[in-house]
Amino acid sequence: MHAASTAVLISEVGPRDGLQSIKTIMPTANKKLWIDALYQAGIREIEVASFVPAKMLPQMADAAEIVRHAKTLEGLTVLALVPNLKGAEAAIQAGVDKITIPVSASAAHSLANVRKTREEMIEEVKRIVEYRNSQAPLVKIEVGISTAFGCTLQGLVPEDEVIWIAEQVIAAGVDEAGLSDTTGYANPSQVKRLFSLLRGAIGEKAGAAHLHNTRGLGLANCLAAYEEGVTSFDSSMGGLGGCPYAPGASGNVVTEDLVFMFEAMGVNTGIQLENLFKAREPLRLGLPDEVIYGMVPEAGLPKGFVVDHKEGM
Ligand code: ZN
Repeated sequence: MHAASTAVLISEVGPRDGLQSIKTIMPTANKKLWIDALYQAGIREIEVASFVPAKMLPQMADAAEIVRHAKTLEGLTVLALVPNLKGAEAAIQAGVDKITIPVSASAAHSLANVRKTREEMIEEVKRIVEYRNSQAPLVKIEVGISTAFGCTLQGLVPEDEVIWIAEQVIAAGVDEAGLSDTTGYANPSQVKRLFSLLRGAIGEKAGAAHLHNTRGLGLANCLAAYEEGVTSFDSSMGGLGGCPYAPGASGNVVTEDLVFMFEAMGVNTGIQLENLFKAREPLRLGLPDEVIYGMVPEAGLPKGFVVDHKEGM
């Protein structure tokens, strides 16, 4: 029996989330080669950069150039993270298709991360939406609600506060709001419950699952989100970034392992695994001293492995 071939979108966040979390700066030319290789493997949404002052994040100083390069890849949704209106203006001027704005569910994390209260951040989201509406109405805006499953600073994050933020930003005019397990605290039951509440509150505007593997539950949490109807997932090649606290575990969910899980289940990702593994080469070349995670690329595909969705699709 073939499982229902629900297509999922794998949004690769390595060039942004990964590269901004490490001290080494990947040269611009290597970033371009890596993005090209990801695209060649079939990835069709990449978070390529964040638009922040270069003195804060020198890793992202070439953001505009990277966006312009990524825009030459046909059919690729070029996504950039922006923390404020100034960043949104720069990203839109560089030509992005979509921007993602992090809004913390945890009051403590919001102050520490962007030096704004959550209410101030929601006001900033409104300003970004107004700018988009007047200057670039085709650009999509998503909010990623960070620390949605718990916070290293304040611990518990009340679920009704997470949902309140989602409602506020959707009312402000963003296209979708997703949930991020910034700290790697989530478990599968919690992921199901919170995405169910999110869908109940904002319906089809419920966005991506950005889940971490800090405590080894990354794939289990992705599967839980999928079973709850989530079809868009953020992950990072080689598990790069996402602030790993635990030795042996990646921070972000490893794209290669996530794609393998879905393809093995017969859920079409549109990504070719062999080509995806090849895309680890330019990553290695660009960051020779970093640990590149991934269980499936290390172990190899199972003997006789055939993706199961050909008939259904
Ligand atoms: Zn992350």
